[in-house]
Amino acid sequence: MGVIERVGSVHEPSADMITWPLVGRFLRWRHARSALQVPLLLVAALLVWDGLTGPQLAPKNLATTVTWLHYRGFVVLALLIFGNAFCMACPFMWPRLVAERLGRARWMWPRPLRSKWPGVVLLAAFLFAYELFDLWASPWWTAWVIVAYFLVALAVNGLFRGAPFCKYLCPIGQFNFVGSLISPLEIAVRNHDVCASCTTKDCFRGHEAQRGCELWLFQEKKYGNMDCTFCLDCIHACPHENVGIRFRLPGSELWQDRLRSGVGRLWRRPDVAALVTVFTFGALLNAFGMVSPVYALEAWLASQLGTTSEWPVLGLIFLGALVVEPALLLGGAGWLSRTWSGRAEPLLAVVMRYVYALVPFGMGVWAAHYLFHVLIGFWGVVPIVQNLVGELTGSFWLGRPRWELGPAVPLEWLDALELGFIALGTWGSWLVAYRLACRDAPQKPWTAFLPWAILIGLLALTAVWLMLQPMEMRGTFLA
Ligand code: SF4
Ligand code: SF4
Repeated sequence: MGVIERVGSVHEPSADMITWPLVGRFLRWRHARSALQVPLLLVAALLVWDGLTGPQLAPKNLATTVTWLHYRGFVVLALLIFGNAFCMACPFMWPRLVAERLGRARWMWPRPLRSKWPGVVLLAAFLFAYELFDLWASPWWTAWVIVAYFLVALAVNGLFRGAPFCKYLCPIGQFNFVGSLISPLEIAVRNHDVCASCTTKDCFRGHEAQRGCELWLFQEKKYGNMDCTFCLDCIHACPHENVGIRFRLPGSELWQDRLRSGVGRLWRRPDVAALVTVFTFGALLNAFGMVSPVYALEAWLASQLGTTSEWPVLGLIFLGALVVEPALLLGGAGWLSRTWSGRAEPLLAVVMRYVYALVPFGMGVWAAHYLFHVLIGFWGVVPIVQNLVGELTGSFWLGRPRWELGPAVPLEWLDALELGFIALGTWGSWLVAYRLACRDAPQKPWTAFLPWAILIGLLALTAVWLMLQPMEMRGTFLA
């Protein structure tokens, strides 16, 4: 199962999941993705139905419980132990197959919109809407978010070639692309020599029976997980069985600026740097939205603005947390790093390189936060299903709803779990920053590293402070 292949400039043994007996066989099956998508499509339909017609108390409704407690926790867990599993099993993409059969995806996505900027705005807008409309508390709104997602994904990917909804728009996809930069698995060629002698390039172009990469990532030149939806199309299209799902050192792509097919060089893309910034600072902001100091800040801002309306207050908080604060902190650390190590290059170039060091920390905060919620509300889905079955069939053959079911782990464990994820993320970020500093200042890496180490340490202290605040148990009966 091990193959020797090229990884960066070195050759090292690498395990390949596609060769595993059962899992590998399933993943090589042409309908593997559909087999994952169809059950999720049915679950999504159930969530919409319950969200629109079921009880409108969040912990009693599947739409809010599954979407805001379970799904988010499983997404981050999958990113940490596997890869971009949600995009792989994305139910929003299945109706697109219908659109494809109708042959409507003929247009090209407008050139000015071919960047991550729309995705950056939509990810920030998604986080903003979540707070403003209290989505976690509204089954009805949650159901409509799911419906809107299906309709927009169907319309955009059904009309335009190259899956632009996934690549440029989908906020969940953008989140997953950044998170998967530290995943242990990557879709990659198994032997570059085979690609060199390949004349058809079906992984990219596709053939009659199988489409090629819709995200326009050419395997021979593909590197890393950015923009890869783990859709498996390239694996099924390659006539030489030369594409695998390889294990790698998690996060190793963060300190390498290789030319990536369909993506270019990450360190030269301000849009991707902005996406990573929103991912990282959004993690802190999202947690801040659930602790009591946010109410004091909102009250103070409202009195200063003389308004009783929430959106301008929230807008100001988002502007400060996602634009002003990152600009000052990243700019300051970049300027000190550049000055202390005696380098001369544009400040923006320094920031656009080191911002990737924040990804492990950001992921640590998302994981700490979302796993907290999923563990608190883990069993919440049981009484909802018992109740649903009872109402639908008139008989509680799954038992009377046990609304009293508690968290999946003792509450005392949660602090340790959260702090553990933050510590892991912080450690990972320090490592990446140090690797970048070694590249920038090989003789005196500490001079380039220290400002970033301090910044990451300060962000980590902020995260610890946030996690130790009493947090709203959103979406549960403990709220
Ligand atoms: S089709 Fe297969 S062998 Fe050919 S370039 Fe793509 S991955 Fe390589
Ligand atoms: S490289 Fe392209 S075809 Fe292959 S899994 Fe990733 S997105 Fe799908």
